[in-house]
Amino acid sequence: MSGAEQESGHRDNSTEGSRQQSTSQVAIKPPRGTYDILPGETDAWQRLESLAREVFLAAGYREIRNPIFEHTELFKRAVGETTDIVNKEMYTFTDKSDRSLTLRPEGTAGVVRAYLNGGMHRWSAPVKLWYAGPMFRYESLKAGRQRQFNQIGLEAFGSASALMDAEVIMVAHALLSKAGVNNFRVEINSIGCSACRPAFREALKAHLAPCLGELCTDCQDRYERNPLRMLDCKVKADQSHYQDVPVSVDFLCNDCSEHWHELTSLLNAQQIKTVYNKRLVRGLDYYTKTVFELVCDDPRLGVSSTLCGGGRYDNLVEVFGGPPTPAAGWAAGVERLLILLGGQPAYRPDVFIVSANQAEALKLACELRAENIICELDYPTRTAMRSFSKQLQQANKSSAPWTVIAGEEELASGAVALKDMSAGSQQRVARSELGRLLHDLINTQKAGQTPASP
Ligand SMILES: [Zn+2]
Ligand SMILES: [Zn+2]
Repeated sequence: MSGAEQESGHRDNSTEGSRQQSTSQVAIKPPRGTYDILPGETDAWQRLESLAREVFLAAGYREIRNPIFEHTELFKRAVGETTDIVNKEMYTFTDKSDRSLTLRPEGTAGVVRAYLNGGMHRWSAPVKLWYAGPMFRYESLKAGRQRQFNQIGLEAFGSASALMDAEVIMVAHALLSKAGVNNFRVEINSIGCSACRPAFREALKAHLAPCLGELCTDCQDRYERNPLRMLDCKVKADQSHYQDVPVSVDFLCNDCSEHWHELTSLLNAQQIKTVYNKRLVRGLDYYTKTVFELVCDDPRLGVSSTLCGGGRYDNLVEVFGGPPTPAAGWAAGVERLLILLGGQPAYRPDVFIVSANQAEALKLACELRAENIICELDYPTRTAMRSFSKQLQQANKSSAPWTVIAGEEELASGAVALKDMSAGSQQRVARSELGRLLHDLINTQKAGQTPASP
């Protein structure tokens, strides 16, 4: 779903001008709207990604990885030629063989294409997939948006049941809850299907026609192209005109209406905050019936920020030449979730090795690393190892809670000294026992207990 609005708290490269410096060593900056995610920041990304993997797996969703660029036609057909994404925001280029290609502006189109190309429509239904990765849109940087931004999302194919809509929403809910996001609600609406939506569209246009001249230019522009999108208008002066607009759920056909009532009763039976939003339409042409957003009121994001958005899209697989296949999905903006995820513990090694013998220090480090213990050692600027006191200074600087001191005498007897850096105490440990003991100490510390003093 391309919908989750993207926004990030990242540094803005937009002030960098296009003016070339005349010196021979011009600093190359990242393209506008892109940024590097540096060590220290990647920790939070990894935490969010592993959390998402857990939530997806628990609900039976499996990962799919799509190309980052696709034939331009794919997005034109899927996202819709009348949308802002296709009209204004795509990174489209011609390759050396004269093909028109586009950096993916959203994830669903590629997943649907792969669903067909990969023969997944012949798998037993439902087929439940998730993805994560960068998306690209030529966005306004003034609004704090990035041009390369990241989404995680899921798509479920092969079930027309409202139970699938509800499950898809509950998975999004679980992800936000696990990420520690508070104060969010699920906003839902039904925008009907190709049978019942035209009547709603006409009623909406008829209602807004008398005041069209007073509405903002975006609204006027959307009136013919994509009138449902007018309901998205946030311009203050326009809001009075939208107060009594016709409501899509009043125009639903029997099938859509039944689906809508099943969904609302399923969601009401869950312990989540669900709000009916009659003006929720989402920006894309492919939605049918259910549309939803998970909206958060957190001061760190500004007022009412959409964290995740999606809906049902029962016709999209057919648009790509596949069999009629009901489907639903959502996407969430990673940058925005990360703002809410909060501070991360800083990186530090578990243990620092101090030794006069380079070969032994490296060997010891490799042994401990093989047991997944984060291990650092002193790297001298010259060939010889530095003095023990210099190395211990480095150990202190590294913030490693433990230091292994491997003196020649200890090594000769198959032992090392293990120093607790905060307590200052030290004990002799058989080298064969070191890994197990460190694991115990690390686990005790992670559990928030006072580590047993060696
Ligand atoms: Zn309908
Ligand atoms: Zn407007």
